[in-house]
Amino acid sequence: MTRANHAGRNIALFLSCVFGAVLMLTGCPVRQRAYQRTELVMDTVVTVTAYGRAAPDAVERVMSEFARFDALWNRFDPSSEVSRINANAGREPVKVHEDTRFIIKKSLVHSELSGGAFDITIGPLVDLWGFTRGERRVPASDEIRRAQELVDYRDVVVDDAAGTVFLRRPGMSLDLGAVAKGYATDRAAAILKSHGITQALINAGGNVYAIGSKPDRTNWTIGVQHPRRPGQLIASMRLIDMSAVTSGDYERFFEVGGVRYHHIIDPSTGSPARGGLTAITVVSRDSAEADMLSTSVFILGKSKGIELIRRIGGTEAVFVEEGNIVTITDGLKGQVHITR
Ligand code: AMP
Ligand code: MG
Repeated sequence: MTRANHAGRNIALFLSCVFGAVLMLTGCPVRQRAYQRTELVMDTVVTVTAYGRAAPDAVERVMSEFARFDALWNRFDPSSEVSRINANAGREPVKVHEDTRFIIKKSLVHSELSGGAFDITIGPLVDLWGFTRGERRVPASDEIRRAQELVDYRDVVVDDAAGTVFLRRPGMSLDLGAVAKGYATDRAAAILKSHGITQALINAGGNVYAIGSKPDRTNWTIGVQHPRRPGQLIASMRLIDMSAVTSGDYERFFEVGGVRYHHIIDPSTGSPARGGLTAITVVSRDSAEADMLSTSVFILGKSKGIELIRRIGGTEAVFVEEGNIVTITDGLKGQVHITR
């Protein structure tokens, strides 16, 4: 299923107050009126729901911020900063906005933490497997090897004094798909809070941030999509002032000969990660961190993933393994309801 298909279903479900990849279960407004906007932006469906007098202004500001990030980081828009960095790989450093330098630096730190599982220079491999614009196909091993040689976060140079970013080798390309929505979600939450909003829910294609509680004072309840049963939940959890971000092998994939090839690539093999997980939801106050972690933990698998989550701290997770086995970290005990 493509992200676009997935997005289409999200809109339909939203109408009954139930959201997609991470689903909002019980968000139907009680008493107070919600101000809500849904936009197709950053290659996904973004829905922001906020309560209170400042909600219309705040939500409009949030939507323009999503559009601004899209214009900076969409690697298929030739005028975006990421496209210019990619086009100048091996040639010259490119002057970029500080948001672009910041998200790249945050990603490079996470690459170190994850032992290289997370790598925003994954572009050549994502393209080779056809998860962007090309044909989805299983590449030959020498093609994989050649693309893999172009993937190395240590060849990204961020120069804050000069305000530039440089990819050292021609052919390298950045893909911020595993972190951009999380980063934008954090910014969205900050904008809403700065407008005095105390009750809101942001859903950027499954990157969810719950601010405060619902108007009836109960907590937002977030559902985790069943990785093998479209439209059904495998778990649900209550969240307050927290973000939940999911990565899964059901979001973008194709099948050949009964084998599922999905969009999360392990840089050490050059192929879709086979860490034994089908989905992982990471819960954190920092949505960018949760976004990066969900991708890395998906690649690393459950046991190394748990280690990484413990090392980072302030972070919890729901793991779904092959066979639909659900495991939750200790901090979520009592907050997560496993549906099956
Ligand atoms: P997510 O859904 O947040 O796990 O992000 C998946 C997206 O991140 C993919 O569609 C790619 O654009 C990109 N990606 C794939 N593999 C990696 C990786 N190993 N490190 C960083 N980004 C990746
Ligand atoms: Mg991610």
